[in-house]
Amino acid sequence: MILTARTRVLTLLGDPVIHSGSPQIQNAAFEAAGVDGVYVAVGCAPGDLDGFMRGLARAGGGGNVTLPYKEKAASILDERSDAVRRTGACNTFWGDEHGRLHGDNTDVEGFRRAMKTFLGGSGSGLRALLLGAGGAARAALLGLLEEGAEEVLLYNRTAERARAVARRIGGERARVLPALRDLEGQGFDLVVNATSVGLEAGEGSPLDFHALDRAGAAMDLVYGPEKTPFQRSADELGIRNTDGVEMLVQQGAASFERWWGMPAPVDAMHAALEQRLLV
Ligand code: NAP
Repeated sequence: MILTARTRVLTLLGDPVIHSGSPQIQNAAFEAAGVDGVYVAVGCAPGDLDGFMRGLARAGGGGNVTLPYKEKAASILDERSDAVRRTGACNTFWGDEHGRLHGDNTDVEGFRRAMKTFLGGSGSGLRALLLGAGGAARAALLGLLEEGAEEVLLYNRTAERARAVARRIGGERARVLPALRDLEGQGFDLVVNATSVGLEAGEGSPLDFHALDRAGAAMDLVYGPEKTPFQRSADELGIRNTDGVEMLVQQGAASFERWWGMPAPVDAMHAALEQRLLV
């Protein structure tokens, strides 16, 4: 790749960013698609976020925003997508010819695409259990509802956070289960883990599938080189399952499409992520 004065700069802004795989995935995509851009990660102080986002966008660039700035980024934008408005979070930004700052939350699109690939169709009419109430859970809840889920039950260690998420996004189709024991005897078409449990070595599954009457399929948003504890727990009962790799690639693909206005080279992105997970 030859960098010139015309090369667009796309930046991951967060703190910390050192462990992110996005530079490998996006630079592989830029190369495969033959676009003139470079993607770098920048550890950013809270007070610098506004300046970075506006300056980059005005210079024809853009980027992604990650923890802990997705909510702050949403408040900085001039133009918010529906996903940003409904989740209150922004993970992708870019500028237009009038200097206005646009943003989207492609975690929602990434979740929808990954879920449809996993289920082999839309989530229309399904009954889902969603574990967690952070940023990933908000994206997954909106994605489930947009795909036509009939009912989504939310469970989170801190019930009040789940109530806040259900109030913000859920409408009549989302309900909060205050305690794990309320899950006993319940049946679901899909169980989604949007907690961070399983990220650290030695952690168990956030759910014992034996507690449920039925689980048709299980989708973890956590990913790593091995199967996650949540996946292994689903395996014990022969429940079909997947990890968060497809969502990660698809949210990156949706970001690529916002910046470049063309379909993303998803195969190249998968290959770059696979290589990174093996290292
Ligand atoms: P977050 O905002 O920090 O939320 C973390 C969630 O995990 C909260 O609901 C929290 O519950 C729960 N939790 C943490 N430790 C727990 C424990 N020991 N027991 C029970 N619940 C616990 O994080 P996030 O941004 O939503 O991300 C969550 C996970 O999704 C991360 O692992 C992240 O890597 C993954 N993710 C994947 C993708 C992808 O593309 N595949 C995208 C985004 C995120 P409390 O509210 O009670 O603290």
